[in-house]
Amino acid sequence: MSNAELVVDLDQYRANLAALRAYAPDALQMAVVKANAYGHGTVPIARAARGAGVDWLGVATPQEALDLRASGDRGPLLCWLAIPGAPFAELVDADVDVTASGVDQLHAIAAAGERPRVQLKVDTGLSRNGAFGPQWDALVAAAARLQEAGTIEVTGVWSHFASADEPDHPANDHQESVFRAAVDQLASAGVDPGVRHLANSAAAVTRPSSHFDLVRIGIASYGIDPDPAVPVPEVRPVLTARTVLANVKRVPAGASVSYGWRWSADRETTLGLVPVGYGEGIHRTASNRAEVGFAGSRAPVRGTICMDQLVVDLGDRTARIGDRVTLFGPGDDGEPTAQDWADAAGTIAYEIVTRLAGRWSRTYRGER
Ligand SMILES: *Cc1c(COP(=O)(O)O)cnc(C)c1O
Repeated sequence: MSNAELVVDLDQYRANLAALRAYAPDALQMAVVKANAYGHGTVPIARAARGAGVDWLGVATPQEALDLRASGDRGPLLCWLAIPGAPFAELVDADVDVTASGVDQLHAIAAAGERPRVQLKVDTGLSRNGAFGPQWDALVAAAARLQEAGTIEVTGVWSHFASADEPDHPANDHQESVFRAAVDQLASAGVDPGVRHLANSAAAVTRPSSHFDLVRIGIASYGIDPDPAVPVPEVRPVLTARTVLANVKRVPAGASVSYGWRWSADRETTLGLVPVGYGEGIHRTASNRAEVGFAGSRAPVRGTICMDQLVVDLGDRTARIGDRVTLFGPGDDGEPTAQDWADAAGTIAYEIVTRLAGRWSRTYRGER
């Protein structure tokens, strides 16, 4: 038994996917389940996504794709971040669509098996992965040759936004027009581009012009807004992080709390010990800033967040060892959300859920 539990509501996850479908009704839907499904647990989330009728799953690494196949997953699946020596043969054999971001990578994929399914990634301005400028010209030419020879099957062309979470950012229009030109270039070279895709959650919600054939939905499917500036009122958080008080004590005014004594009580109060810390992926930068949910309202974290535990101030509330504490969840019972923790920790809500690690158990609610 773990000291702390992540409760994942699969019914809510499926409801979120359905709500997001309505934003891009004419596009295929890819559920992005990389990084352990943003902390929610890849295999149950992937199964729920398939059950909800998503058209594709997306992951970053080859290993994530192979792990999904090993779990029995069969449908369309794209991976996009490989290094030299990546297990392309296994991926091709497992019917995974592999992304090529350059000519050398394309050749490595082409050599890996029988007519690999390849998607071509163009860098439209994020300057991360993907082929840029003359590299894209070369990738298009190589893909056209290999496709013509029947060596590969090009199944898609895609790119990724830099600032979709800032809908008015000029990068969005720019990247979209670069993408359109790249798709045209591929078609002019005689390659049927397959599925064309550019949008993540934020673009799926705010930018219909970017939907093309498919939208790649990550954060919003987990019920978290891509950014406070991009609210998605139709979705609700899927994950609740909770535990119970491991200790409770009454302390006098002047008592100091946790490493470094970075907080001292200015009055008599009740402290509760919460048995999770940065070993569970709780951000230490939220020390003295975050709150937890307790008995229908919030209690502040006091002092430094430790590896295994943190301390909350329960004031004069009645509290017993074993009482429920909710670190974050949908907010229904007054508890903070992942966004509240992000604000306290100085980061984004993506990182709050994705960093969850270590000694949690995961419990799944809703039909598996
Ligand atoms: C993570 C990721 C996504 C999903 O982005 P969200 O903002 O979580 O919707 C989409 N596409 C790519 C390439 C990604 O790496």
